[in-house]
Amino acid sequence: MNIRNYLKHFINGEWVESTGTNTIDVINPATEEVIGRISDGTIEDLNRAVAAARAAFPSFSQTSKEERIELLNRIADEYEKRKDDIVEVVMQELGSPITISEKTHYNMGLSHFRQAAKELESFEFSERRGGALIRKEPIGVSGLITPWNFPTNQTSTKLASAFAAGCTVVLKPSEETPFAAIILAEIFEAAGVPKGVFNLVNGSGEVVGNGISSHPDIDFVSFTGSGAVGQKITENAAKTIKKVALELGGKSPLVILDDFDMVKAAQIAISNVVFNTGQVCVAASRTLVPKSKHDEFVEAVKAILPNIPYGDPQDKSNIFGPLVSEKQYNRVQGYIQKGIEEGATLVSGGPGKPEGLEKGYFVKPTVFTNVTNDMTIAQEEIFGPVMSIITYEDLDEAIEIANDTIYGLAGYVVGEDREKIEKVAMSIRAGSIRVNNAPPEMSAPFGGFKQSGIGREWGSYGIEEYLEVKSIVGIPS
Ligand code: NAD
Repeated sequence: MNIRNYLKHFINGEWVESTGTNTIDVINPATEEVIGRISDGTIEDLNRAVAAARAAFPSFSQTSKEERIELLNRIADEYEKRKDDIVEVVMQELGSPITISEKTHYNMGLSHFRQAAKELESFEFSERRGGALIRKEPIGVSGLITPWNFPTNQTSTKLASAFAAGCTVVLKPSEETPFAAIILAEIFEAAGVPKGVFNLVNGSGEVVGNGISSHPDIDFVSFTGSGAVGQKITENAAKTIKKVALELGGKSPLVILDDFDMVKAAQIAISNVVFNTGQVCVAASRTLVPKSKHDEFVEAVKAILPNIPYGDPQDKSNIFGPLVSEKQYNRVQGYIQKGIEEGATLVSGGPGKPEGLEKGYFVKPTVFTNVTNDMTIAQEEIFGPVMSIITYEDLDEAIEIANDTIYGLAGYVVGEDREKIEKVAMSIRAGSIRVNNAPPEMSAPFGGFKQSGIGREWGSYGIEEYLEVKSIVGIPS
């Protein structure tokens, strides 16, 4: 296999050497082999990138929306030309099965650029209110820090919104999945993104990430990742009164109504919780089942789960692969152990690696029942293919359990009765609700209530995050 050595940062339209000499290994989680290296960026590298973004801001912020629509569409065109590379790289660095890499990771990355171009068509950057002219102006230099679980989606949603708004950026992708962002930089070069508008500095969270959140010349930080890091970023940003947008974790409930077919419910619940090997902030990790339907639901889960193909990401029939890293593997194993210790009943899966998949960070899809909502596995984000079945007596109790969490990212309902569905959908305190497995809407806002975050991404709401609002009164007519 070719080792991908990407030891340069992309700053001011050029690939430049790092001022440091340290590197970070990137591992294929399916094979545990080193597949490449990136530079472990320094504060000097970051300062250079911020200076380039700052210098490019006056001109890029003045571009017309028509110019930016054209730019976003050129980016999307170039992105399409790199399809094979993107699909391969996400498979290698994340361990995503090739089919999912194409259908989800590649497509979601693309859709944000196309969607942002479409949103701009009708987006109004100014309006009149009485005697005032209200203008929406780009917020400035934006620092983007992204996680490993969706290497193209998490970066593209931020980048597309930033460019649509007229902001210049410094991106620090996850050091665990940095290669997709390298391809994005190449795409931006090919699409003619002006020098300094996009800057990429690879490296650790402790140095480059921390540097972004405390940098006096960065106006806004958009972060996706863990709550603990989100807190640090907010604390750092406070020192220079920097705006932050945070997309953090979740412990999302799936409420199954008693009038719904339990086999269909089990299919939806399982496919949701194993999607991306459970490494999804909106994963439906708590499954709320009517007490009277518990046994029927568990039987359906037991029948379906063994037929879910998982394993080698190169195999087109697999729908999930390994976890991203050894750290993540140990973390998920720790939660499975905790579930057993706290008295939950294993329906399927459990500790250790699946038979035949001893190499790679593979875990068994695991389902617990007799889970109470105060257990650790029902309260903390596991970020692995682990489902917790919790029973409820009536709809009010289901809603109470659904909301009994520090998080509020997503909620799911499956059922037949429109009134009951509406009641649950309206009562769950979360940023997005999906009913009966409806597909996500890319123009709708994405983000969390409570400790799941601050701000919204996707569509026009995502663009708004990158804008300041100004009012002007008294201009002579
Ligand atoms: P993380 O929050 O540690 O890392 C996310 C990004 O933040 C990475 O680019 C990282 O380098 C950077 N970072 C780390 N420390 C930083 C700091 N002090 N200042 C600024 N940036 C910093 O997440 P992780 O270690 O990759 O995953 C840990 C847990 O976070 C997961 O198990 C999961 O619960 C959660 N997570 C959530 C999401 C999500 O989409 N909401 C995504 C990934 C991980």
